[in-house]
Amino acid sequence: MRKMEALWAYQEAEIAKNAVEAEIRSTPARLQLNKLHKQLKNQQAVIAKLTEDIEIYEQQLPKLTEQVEKLEARLEVESGELVTIRQDDESTAEEMTELKVDIERLNREISQGVRETKSLLAEIEKATEEYQSTVKAASKAKKEYDTLRVTCEEEKEARAGEMAKHDQNLATLAKTVDPALLERFNQVKLHHAVPIAKIVNSKCGGCNMSLPMVMLKKIATTDGIVECENCGRILYSAND
Ligand SMILES: [Zn+2]
Repeated sequence: MRKMEALWAYQEAEIAKNAVEAEIRSTPARLQLNKLHKQLKNQQAVIAKLTEDIEIYEQQLPKLTEQVEKLEARLEVESGELVTIRQDDESTAEEMTELKVDIERLNREISQGVRETKSLLAEIEKATEEYQSTVKAASKAKKEYDTLRVTCEEEKEARAGEMAKHDQNLATLAKTVDPALLERFNQVKLHHAVPIAKIVNSKCGGCNMSLPMVMLKKIATTDGIVECENCGRILYSAND
């Protein structure tokens, strides 16, 4: 079991290193940094969306204004005509009615256009306010983010020596492990964060499946890799 013992020691060293890395990644400053990172991304998306919306509204506004102005110009013309018709004895009641209906319709269309303009202006104002408050909040978050990033770098730096020792230890241990076993270990690691499972009461310590006698015998007599048929972890018998 000497080959497997070396591999087991390698895994233990790797777990120790990972624990330090996990600590560095989960300090209050780092967690807050991650939160702010997400927040900033969301805020940037909101800002982009609002910028686009405001641009579209501002393109609509002159068109709408122009439309209302045209209607108002026509109304003025038709109102003038109505005055003329009233003074003209030869004009018929039918002509008068037609003109009045037309003027009413123009008035309705103008009211509608004015309502739309007002609501568009309100939309622009609302979007602009939201844009400004989001920009302000994002700028505040960015400042906090930059400060925290410095803190996180300092935290990482403070543990750099410790990490270097772990790396050194792993490199030393890696030399003691059979290269073929190490390669297999790394392959199993793609599926299991901790590739080697100890055998506990004739069960795989990883997935808890009972191991057949023949397999237990094989593990006891082989100094190499035997994988759990259920989960694929490398089995290790610590008793030997
Ligand atoms: Zn298993």
